[in-house]
Amino acid sequence: MSRLAEIDSLEVVVIVDNEVDPMSPCMHPSVQASGGMRDISMKSTIHPENRGGANFELRMDNICCGAHGLSLMITAVQGEKRRTVLFDTGPEEDTWERNVRRLRPNLASIKLIQLSHWHRDHSGGMLRAIRMIHTAKGPSEDRVIVDVHPNRPDYRGIMATGPVSLEADPSFEEIKATGAILSRPNEPHTVLDDMFLISGEIPRVTPYETGFKRGIRFDSSKGTWKKDELILDERFLMCNLKGKGVVVFTGCSHAGAINASKHAMQFSEGSPLYCVVGGYHLADAEVSQIQETVRDFRKLGPKILIPGHCSGWRVKYEIEKKMPGCLVPSFVGSKFIL
Ligand SMILES: [Zn+2]
Ligand SMILES: [Zn+2]
Repeated sequence: MSRLAEIDSLEVVVIVDNEVDPMSPCMHPSVQASGGMRDISMKSTIHPENRGGANFELRMDNICCGAHGLSLMITAVQGEKRRTVLFDTGPEEDTWERNVRRLRPNLASIKLIQLSHWHRDHSGGMLRAIRMIHTAKGPSEDRVIVDVHPNRPDYRGIMATGPVSLEADPSFEEIKATGAILSRPNEPHTVLDDMFLISGEIPRVTPYETGFKRGIRFDSSKGTWKKDELILDERFLMCNLKGKGVVVFTGCSHAGAINASKHAMQFSEGSPLYCVVGGYHLADAEVSQIQETVRDFRKLGPKILIPGHCSGWRVKYEIEKKMPGCLVPSFVGSKFIL
């Protein structure tokens, strides 16, 4: 595998996330945040003569909508070079499209879509996202690469009193039918001029990060459900920010946010952990797991934590208490520059 290159800066646009809060300010001095009410209010111009001198209209349909899932548009900048990945695609096509129409990001710049793992709240918007990216690119530009784990379950689900199935993820055939370039690597690899690294399987080393409780998968050849709590197909995305350290993007952290962060350090070539962005999957965790996670984050020493999606409010509160100044909650519609 090639070395992960150092980059100068990172831009993250939160296209889908669970929470909407365009009012709370970002308090972290090292994070440039935008996308709040002030920016939203400048999106629609009106004729000032008709509205007593008002040049802008704060339109409610310019505010993004929250949904249970995650989709981040991430641009790595190295000198004049910019490379953009779409990390996950949210739970459903309409949500992704609606928020993109409100945010108006440059979809044509997306060269690769990475799916963090096979769960519908991350894959549900994928097919329409690919088509919209291709439309934005036009026929002359390269088709988007879709990077997924090769072991796609027929269905995933949760064992309650009986099995509860999730919707199926997009199939390999459906992805190929969009014209996208399907890539199914199992091992860690760098992409887009080595400006990003996509991990392989994340080793489970902490005793308290034990996976997705009651997770199951359906095997259609046998017609049966089996236990699948480890979600071994989960991968993270990472970058190395020059002079700052490693930024880890985690979809749902079924492997554990600490396990992912620790594994990322094995590719960092001595750079420290700088920031962890995404779902920490602690919304429904035991109090002890939340405390142990924040205790171990303190040991790893990141300067910024950007929990979103399935992290839940309790870990944000614990971070703010135990690591004051580190927390930047992820809200849909935000843009962060690191
Ligand atoms: Zn998941
Ligand atoms: Zn999720």
